[in-house]
Amino acid sequence: MTSAAATTDPGAPAAARIIMHVDMDAFFASVELKRRPSLRGQPVIVGGRGDPARRGVVSTATYEARVFGIHSGMALRTAARLCPDAVFLPVDFPAYHEASAQVFECLAAVSERLQPVGLDEAYMDISHRSDDPLGIGRRLKDDIHTATDLVASVGIGPNRLLAKIASDLEKPNGLTRLHPADVPERVWPLPVRTLHGVGPRTAERLAGLGVETVGDLARMGRDGLSTEFSPRHAQSLSDSAHGIDERPVQTERVRKSIGRERTFQQDCRSSGRLDHEARLMLDEVRGRLTARQLGARTVTVKLRYRDFTTHTRSQSLASATDDHEALAALVRQCLFAHRLHRAVRLLGVQLSGLTPL
Ligand SMILES: [Mg+2]
Repeated sequence: MTSAAATTDPGAPAAARIIMHVDMDAFFASVELKRRPSLRGQPVIVGGRGDPARRGVVSTATYEARVFGIHSGMALRTAARLCPDAVFLPVDFPAYHEASAQVFECLAAVSERLQPVGLDEAYMDISHRSDDPLGIGRRLKDDIHTATDLVASVGIGPNRLLAKIASDLEKPNGLTRLHPADVPERVWPLPVRTLHGVGPRTAERLAGLGVETVGDLARMGRDGLSTEFSPRHAQSLSDSAHGIDERPVQTERVRKSIGRERTFQQDCRSSGRLDHEARLMLDEVRGRLTARQLGARTVTVKLRYRDFTTHTRSQSLASATDDHEALAALVRQCLFAHRLHRAVRLLGVQLSGLTPL
């Protein structure tokens, strides 16, 4: 009895964790190059319908295109201006899903404690493995390459924050381990945006305090930050700057959300049209919900305006449902909580809090 109590002693220090972050390099573009080898070495941009004259954003660009300043989320038209010689290809999700499934088979063989982030990225908790983490990473990269002919970057750290930073440090084809002691030398020179949780708005507020790099943030400390941020936010920023992150790897058995987004060919200024489109999107998303015999508790409606600012509104029910009218009512509440008189370029409807019914 005493030994059982000892194993759950809340005062015992938590064992050090080893977290791996795997991120495929230029994933969509690499899948495309695999079937179009003649395009290798050229700037290739995958996005929308592959036509820069039409609406759509860059999903992925090859490294040859990135040197022109092209990045994910950029309007295709802007990308065409920056790199007129780029080859534009349409997004082909079935092909990426297929490659992704092969990648995840390789990942699942390494650890069951696996948290997917989109099609081409995942965190794994490998604390339970006794072999050398860098060796695990090297073999995993080989396995992925053998199975898919695609290249992954792998980062290893004591938590998700540092594992993700590590996977990015030597991209493409990187394999990097960060220990807490490496933070001042390797992480502090990086821009604050590198840190999980520091979006454009937080970065702007930090710039107002003279904070540009992670090191600046670490030196500012919690107290210096609390002039601008809530005590909780100041604490979490300061923790991140010191490489501290307690978030667990969240193994998910059921998908967390399903949704649909649509970029309009021309900005939409009609609330009636948005209402109609949102309804059509809900119909489609709800079809996928019922096909999986799931209910949803939360509805989120996302709008992206012409200036690319993005706003989301969510509403939740007390329990999950697949009832069409109940979900449609929430969609409308969320939609009309937005400012609809502005020019809208993208509309999204998402269902989350999914539970088997
Ligand atoms: Mg990637």
